[in-house]
Order: sequence, then structure tokens, then C-alpha cells
Amino acid sequence: MSTRLMKETLLPRIMWISKSITLKQLHLQVFEYLRHAISEWIDWKDPKTKKLPKDSRNDLRQTLIDFPYRPENFSGPFTKGDFEGMSLDDQFDLCMSGLYVDPSSENSSESFDISEKPYRIVFKDISGYCAPCLYCGKLRCGGCEVPFVSEITVQ
Ligand SMILES: [Zn+2]
Repeated sequence: MSTRLMKETLLPRIMWISKSITLKQLHLQVFEYLRHAISEWIDWKDPKTKKLPKDSRNDLRQTLIDFPYRPENFSGPFTKGDFEGMSLDDQFDLCMSGLYVDPSSENSSESFDISEKPYRIVFKDISGYCAPCLYCGKLRCGGCEVPFVSEITVQ
């Protein structure tokens, strides 16, 4: 199975994962794969960043939204160094607190709030056939968000 990811840039990404891992492990693996981009995001929004745009028409210091997550009781600017000093689990908890344990009731491809999580993982049928969604069973569900559970495996 390939998991298709859409980042805020709408850049599709494909990564290979084992079918035997749980959906919880899937979330953690995808996060590990993408955390470099999160780290870069924090750096671009750091007022003391040393980053300079390659193209002046696309200055990420201006166009990126502010990084919305902070560890509890954190004061002062949150930097790339602060983020990279955290464990993978702590980074995940910081950024992904908005994950649904069971998203079936609130499932909608339109409801996305970046203050809750930086990206979503969605079940998508890319075969071209109009088969019912493997997760919710609906014919045109548009893609269920992958729940953060360890009872279900990818397969
Ligand atoms: Zn569905």
C-alpha cells in the first residue's frame, strides 16, 4: 500500500510502509519522515533566522503562517534548536495533539485546522474504481482521516 500525503504546499509524496504496523505506528513513522520540514518551518518563522529566500517573490519568512505549537509553559521564541532538542515522542505530542482517535463521526475532507495539526493522513482510493471506503464503508466518503489507534493495522 502506498500512502499519499498532501503537505500545505499540496505536494504529493509517496512513501512505502509495512502493512503489519498499526495506524498509531503509521502516524509516528510519517511524522518522523516529515519532521525535518516542521523544523524548517520553525526556522523560517524565527525572527533571528539566518535563512534567506532564494527567490524574493516567495519569501517564506513572510508567507508561511506562524508556527502554532508550543510546549506547555514555554516562554520566549520557539526555535529550531528547541524543537530538535526534543525527543521524537515529545515532538509528535507537540504537533499532533489534534489527531482523532476515531475520526469517523467528524470525518470530512474539508474540516482541517492547522492549529490542531500540521498535516493530515487520509485514506484515499487511487485505483480509479468507485469502491466503498475501506474504513467507513461509504461510497463517496472523499477520504477518511487515519485514526490514531493501535487496534487497527495498515492492512
Ligand atoms: Zn471513509
